Amino acid sequence: MNRATSEQLYQEAEDLIVGGVNSPSRAFKGVGGGTPVFMDHGKGAHFTDVDGNHYIDYLGAYGPIITGHAHPHITGAIKTAAENGVLYGTPTKLENQFARMLTHAIPSLEKVRFVNSGTEAVMTTIRVARAYTNRRKIIKFSGCYHGHSDLVLVAAGSGPSTLGSPDSAGVTRNIAEEVITVPFNETESLKQALETYGDDIAAVLIEPIVGNFGLVEPKPGFLESVKALTHDNGSLLIFDEVISAFRFHYGSAQEITGVEADMTAMGKIIGGGLPIGAYGGRVDIMEQVAPLGPAYQAGTMSGNPASMAAGIACLEVLQQDGVYDEMDRLGEKLEKGILKHAESYGLPVKINRLKGMLTVYFSEHDVTNYDEAEATNGKQFAEFFHLMLEEGINLAPSKFEAWFLTTAHTEDDIDQTLEAVENSFKQMAQKTV
Ligand code: PMP
Repeated sequence: MNRATSEQLYQEAEDLIVGGVNSPSRAFKGVGGGTPVFMDHGKGAHFTDVDGNHYIDYLGAYGPIITGHAHPHITGAIKTAAENGVLYGTPTKLENQFARMLTHAIPSLEKVRFVNSGTEAVMTTIRVARAYTNRRKIIKFSGCYHGHSDLVLVAAGSGPSTLGSPDSAGVTRNIAEEVITVPFNETESLKQALETYGDDIAAVLIEPIVGNFGLVEPKPGFLESVKALTHDNGSLLIFDEVISAFRFHYGSAQEITGVEADMTAMGKIIGGGLPIGAYGGRVDIMEQVAPLGPAYQAGTMSGNPASMAAGIACLEVLQQDGVYDEMDRLGEKLEKGILKHAESYGLPVKINRLKGMLTVYFSEHDVTNYDEAEATNGKQFAEFFHLMLEEGINLAPSKFEAWFLTTAHTEDDIDQTLEAVENSFKQMAQKTV
């Protein structure tokens, strides 16, 4: 594939934009380097880059694009919103309409507040939990990503009873000491952390279905135990559903897992591709937030008409009969096909999949927590990633990411993708011989 224009634009970008990208995950650092592809336009499940090459897209912009690129219903809603003025700084009817849709779809959301990103949504739930409980610390789980605010950029200490250390320069040790990180899918460490720091724990923060060390589901009973331990300690349970809300069905992971949270943070899909975040939960907790309560949170762009209109339109598409079943069906076909080709070419591959979201791990072992994801073969993934890109398949450049199917993917897309997988595996197998 000739990508001369991408190469040239990337060189230019490196002079202008730090690292040449506006989010580090877009650089190809995790796949041994290379030039990120500059896309020109997208339609449905397809992309065309600036050199005129075509791709089938499974990145889905890291999750938000669940209806495919430039879905006419969403595009129409954004056009109308733009023509009516993109930002008012006053309340609008659209905010009520969208808040009603979300609270109807997710029973634990008694009240919501719109913000502009997943980062803001999670950051604020922590502040509100601290205000409500009058406690300082939080517990989170290894490998779960919660945005780039200080409190969640904290690495695990050496054990469950150890406080965290900064995971980014610029995060202070004082802040890191407010956070304890324990393993996902295991309750013993959480128990120990609560025994040691219980009186000081405001909240336990978790991705109920993980999307950030690949797709990892909670083991049966795990979330129930997390909730019981959290509540026994007088702490709040916060679900980070920035990826999972509306990903697997019309609603949150809470209806799938049967475990409700006290507060929920959302983003991605609910903006239909425009910037958004939202958080919500029990009324008595949400009433801590300004202007009703003492916990301050505000935003010039929050609830802006374009994001509201795009989000409403996206959820309207997702309300159509059978959309999730179809993503499930195509996801299953993809999963089975990849596993079949892996077996034929003798490559160790494990797949975690739920409906239209899946992660392909190069490993002989199942992945149920971060350490297991970390132990999968990054070199093999990097090789696969670059071969697939040459075959015209756009994946996330990280072994910890998922493939996202959309309502726009077709049987034909899956067939073409499986052909690309077979070609890639064949080349990988030839190399290992
Ligand atoms: N939480 C989770 C679970 C996420 O996956 C992400 C983004 N990948 C965020 C929070 C942060 O969202 P944003 O990038 O919109 O700030």
